[in-house]
Amino acid sequence: MNFGPDYVRAIAPYQGGKPISEVAREFGLDESSIVKLASNENPLGLPESARLAMMAALTELARYPDSNGFDLKATISKKFAVPTDSITLGNGSNDILELAARSLVSPGQSVVYSEFSFAVYPLATQAVGAKAIVVPAVNYGHDLDAMRAAITDETRLVFVANPNNPTGTFIDAEKIHSFIQSVPPSVVVVLDEAYTEYLTQTQQYDSLRWVAQYPNLIVSRSFSKAYGLAGLRIGFGIAQPALTDLLNRLRQPFNVNSLAQAAAIAALNDAAYLKKSAEINAQGYLQLTSAFAAMNIEYLPSSGNFVMFRAGHDDAAGARVNLALLKKGIIVRPVGNYGLPQWLRVSIGLPEENAAFLTALQAILA
Ligand SMILES: *Cc1c(COP(=O)(O)O)cnc(C)c1O
Repeated sequence: MNFGPDYVRAIAPYQGGKPISEVAREFGLDESSIVKLASNENPLGLPESARLAMMAALTELARYPDSNGFDLKATISKKFAVPTDSITLGNGSNDILELAARSLVSPGQSVVYSEFSFAVYPLATQAVGAKAIVVPAVNYGHDLDAMRAAITDETRLVFVANPNNPTGTFIDAEKIHSFIQSVPPSVVVVLDEAYTEYLTQTQQYDSLRWVAQYPNLIVSRSFSKAYGLAGLRIGFGIAQPALTDLLNRLRQPFNVNSLAQAAAIAALNDAAYLKKSAEINAQGYLQLTSAFAAMNIEYLPSSGNFVMFRAGHDDAAGARVNLALLKKGIIVRPVGNYGLPQWLRVSIGLPEENAAFLTALQAILA
């Protein structure tokens, strides 16, 4: 007896970064000695401002959260100068990606995204029985011209990650903007900006201004990376009111819990934490990439809080070096499931975490 539709049974489960506790058990290591650089989490840990806000919110936990997220939306609205009726709150920005697919695409229709782009795009596409049109990458990044050309009459949704995960590639504002302009108005573009806070000053652009111009644009943002709240699961989408209304029809009424809402408000008001996140990331990026260069290890220039590097030139290299790193208590992310078996992705950690990773990698490759 096979339950469920074929397209659900065909879904390959998401492979996340290994938890510290699991690696400790599997390899007989002390949890405190393990360095996890596998899930692009913020190495600074939970913002103190968010911790205090959650402590204060604990007393209200017997009640349901505010299903409309009034206070958080007001904070987002003020900080990003967007109307509150253009905000959709999500249980992680992952929720926004799924809401977009579920509310816009019917079985048999198609979704366009790039090769080597975020693993949730195929999941969200397959979950609604839609056809995935995967456009070959150029230099490991999105080929926007080819993505535009791949759109058919049946296409309802396009995912673009900028910067992209796991490759770290970045597309400049002008190119993204003209892509959005060129997409037929019946096709919605989700511009996934989970790492936008890490962009350098020259890279930064204001996609939220484009939302007012394009009724078919959703910009998604996350609190999991630069804001240090990955475990709480919170993110948001910005789109014009009509599209926002559609997304909210499928949203679970209480998809964002009270602690997450309180923490997100505090984190948005904590400019010092955000600044420090970007600074420690820029510093760690230099530490990792200068060591890669010195070790003659190929890596992709990254605009996120992680770097993809080549573990070797055979298709077993990624898995082999990953296992050797795990034995030394270093958790990074294999990307074989993305079709990149020769590569590994390392999240940028604290200076001492980066150093421990580099020391282990050097010993393995020697
Ligand atoms: C991490 C990530 C997300 C989603 O993160 P959430 O924790 O669900 O907010 C979305 N897109 C990309 C490209 C990511 O790397």
